[in-house]
Amino acid sequence: MKNIGIDVKPPKKTCNDDLCPFHGSTKIRGRIVKGKIASATTGGNAVIERQYFQYGKKYMRYEKRRSKLHAHLPLCIEVAKGDMVVLAECRPLNKTASFVVIERTSE
Ligand SMILES: [Zn+2]
Repeated sequence: MKNIGIDVKPPKKTCNDDLCPFHGSTKIRGRIVKGKIASATTGGNAVIERQYFQYGKKYMRYEKRRSKLHAHLPLCIEVAKGDMVVLAECRPLNKTASFVVIERTSE
């Protein structure tokens, strides 16, 4: 297994997914984000929803916003809808995903 350069728990399983950062050739660089799984296909794409607060000038308070992000889900990481995951930015892996799921967190 490769060291991906980020302090996360590596997956217990191994896989032969070429796009997996632990067992394949995908290199990680850029941003690290956390989010919640909205839908996922193992070995395929995962849709992650993120909530954040944006300051609204007119009403002088924070408004809640959410956005969706597409990421590759490697074969060795198992997630279900509603799980919290950590994503790492990498090169564009397909039309919409330039992030990869690297860890499933408990909270
Ligand atoms: Zn893997």
